[in-house]
Amino acid sequence: MSNIVLETKGLKKKYGKSTVIDNFSFKVEKGHICGLIGPNGAGKTTIMKIMAGLTKSNGGSLELFGTGKDLDRNRRRISFLIENPMLDINMSAYKNMEYIKYLKGIPTSEKIDDVLEFVGLGDAKDKKVKKFSLGMRQRLAIGMAILSKPEILILDEPVNGLDPEGIVDVRKMIKRLVHEEEVTVLISSHILSELSELCTDYAIINHGCLVESITSEELQIKCENHITLKTDDINRTATILEGKLGISKYKVFRDEEVHIFEKLDDISVISRAITDSGLTILKLVEEGASLEEYYLSKVGGANV
Ligand code: ATP
Repeated sequence: MSNIVLETKGLKKKYGKSTVIDNFSFKVEKGHICGLIGPNGAGKTTIMKIMAGLTKSNGGSLELFGTGKDLDRNRRRISFLIENPMLDINMSAYKNMEYIKYLKGIPTSEKIDDVLEFVGLGDAKDKKVKKFSLGMRQRLAIGMAILSKPEILILDEPVNGLDPEGIVDVRKMIKRLVHEEEVTVLISSHILSELSELCTDYAIINHGCLVESITSEELQIKCENHITLKTDDINRTATILEGKLGISKYKVFRDEEVHIFEKLDDISVISRAITDSGLTILKLVEEGASLEEYYLSKVGGANV
């Protein structure tokens, strides 16, 4: 059975004559944390708004929990934190939670106290939100989003403006939700170092188009210092590496290229062994990067 709970196929969105989302296809597996990353104006919020039903797409499809049908009903299994959270600053944290519970028709069995405790606001529950710090407001917004026990949580810039401690707190909350409740998370952020602590997958977007979908494992392999080798016969290449050169620390990547993690100074020796065996080298370079560098290489150096 497919584990895909969130999928877009050829999604398109136009504002007037300008296309802001173009042929955007990606998917997220249950229990995964997918980071949606891209420069300002790339289209991250728009994609999340389409998912939330806050704006309509002009083409393509959205599938939730394996189906494109009953989108409105399935959206009730999702919570969204997009742009400014809906907080009444003249009410207490508890009253805000009560209000959202009423508004969303959340069953009375869901305990506001437990959620406030979870987001670290147990002691501040009767305090008016206008006296809350930005970090506390953000925790409350997350509490309001998770009160309905969503299966998917969509968070647009949830750590925007938070201090380092607040950022770590939000990260811990998200990790707990994923590990304890098997929630699936789609998150956007400009703090790439933060996302790399959290995400299992990334979707890189630029000018409304998907640049690349990559898992954190694939990213790690791509970012670790290595020699990338591409030839016209990947299977024979692996045999040569092991048999002729005694290289065992390598990985075949998407049946296309080999990444070699040892003997990084021996690039010419590797080159000679491959060509002497009659293979054609299509690519042979030393590579390695942080998520930020990798991202910048993909979006053409646009600022994050
Ligand atoms: P940021 O990182 O700055 O939040 P983003 O990746 O979330 O950016 P979006 O907010 O989705 O980007 O915007 C994508 C494009 O759509 C931008 O060019 C933006 O100007 C445009 N856009 C967004 N909302 C509207 C709207 N209501 N009317 C017209 N254009 C819009």
